[in-house]
Amino acid sequence: MNPERLAVSDRISRLIPYQPGKPIDEVKRELGIVGDVIKLASNENPLGPSPAGIAALQTVLPTLALYPDGACHTLRLAVAKKHGVSPDSLIFGNGSDEVIHLLGLTFLEPGDEIIVGDPTFVLYEAAATLAGATTVKVPLTPGDLRHDAAAMAAACTEKTRLVFVANPHNPTGSVISKADVETLLAALPPRAFLVLDEAYAEYVEDDPSLPRALDYLAAGAPVICLRTFSKLYGLAGFRVGYAVAAPDVIALLNQGRSPFNVNLAGQVAATAALTDTEFIARSKQNNDEGIAQLIAGFQRLGLSWVPTRANFIVVDTGRPAKAMFDALLKQGIIVRAFPKDLPTHLRVTIGTPEQNARFLEALEACLS
Ligand SMILES: *Cc1c(COP(=O)(O)O)cnc(C)c1O
Repeated sequence: MNPERLAVSDRISRLIPYQPGKPIDEVKRELGIVGDVIKLASNENPLGPSPAGIAALQTVLPTLALYPDGACHTLRLAVAKKHGVSPDSLIFGNGSDEVIHLLGLTFLEPGDEIIVGDPTFVLYEAAATLAGATTVKVPLTPGDLRHDAAAMAAACTEKTRLVFVANPHNPTGSVISKADVETLLAALPPRAFLVLDEAYAEYVEDDPSLPRALDYLAAGAPVICLRTFSKLYGLAGFRVGYAVAAPDVIALLNQGRSPFNVNLAGQVAATAALTDTEFIARSKQNNDEGIAQLIAGFQRLGLSWVPTRANFIVVDTGRPAKAMFDALLKQGIIVRAFPKDLPTHLRVTIGTPEQNARFLEALEACLS
């Protein structure tokens, strides 16, 4: 193509495409694996989608010729009721990924800064880059890989517009304390928000010692809470996430939203999944037991790990991460490696008991 036609802003050309966990079919194709391939790479629910969510879909299939409700009315009322917030304090997205994108579009301009942990979920930086803003990266604490709230607070300046903290954090599984949240809030300049990405909050919501974005929001703090149906609810394929924030903040985010951004099937499945209490309890129990199973395995293999409160765990293999990733792939097991940031670690999603056992077996084989 004529280079003049391809000349675009470096907000686009500098973007590094998101590297998703490898899809199962791609691994089978590339490596010619005939048997089972297990994906423990994207923190999906190993028990599958919420059965109530799937059952509700039957009613929606005959109506799929119609556009979805752009306002997500039914889902909005259900989520508002669950959290005890007003319906106008919610915005829904095509996954919370889209809401992160909207945060950048709405609040960031060239010259602005966002503050993130390093490493962290990469879409925060992508949203900043797209907006021409700068990402200030504050290293996680060495060893236990937690957010360094004091250092992040010290990095706040008049240019700071958004401070992103995933809690529990991805990719490490660590959590921040209430004191950490308060440190960050106290450091925010008047124009900044603290974005608490609670993609994994459902796994820790029974623990009152941990900070909850909704409590700070209720107290009037400049917090934006992100949630998703992709993790505990098992609906990653439907792409439904949302933000909870003050209604005037939500109204701004809504300005740049495309009109039918959340698909009809996703709205219906998500609404039903919210109250699928049996599945929610079973998923949490599988996760707790899976963490214990993997930790027991790591102990047996003499490996250390990062304490986790999410549905994945980071293990230090003591070997180059990329080589371990490739060796596991050959055994039909897809995990996640971040060689640049975590040179000897792997991030493994908690699977079913059988998947965890197969992973540990393959890991042992790869170590020797
Ligand atoms: C998985 C994840 C998301 C994205 O979830 P979607 O709703 O599927 O877009 C957002 N933030 C973090 C930290 C995640 O791990």
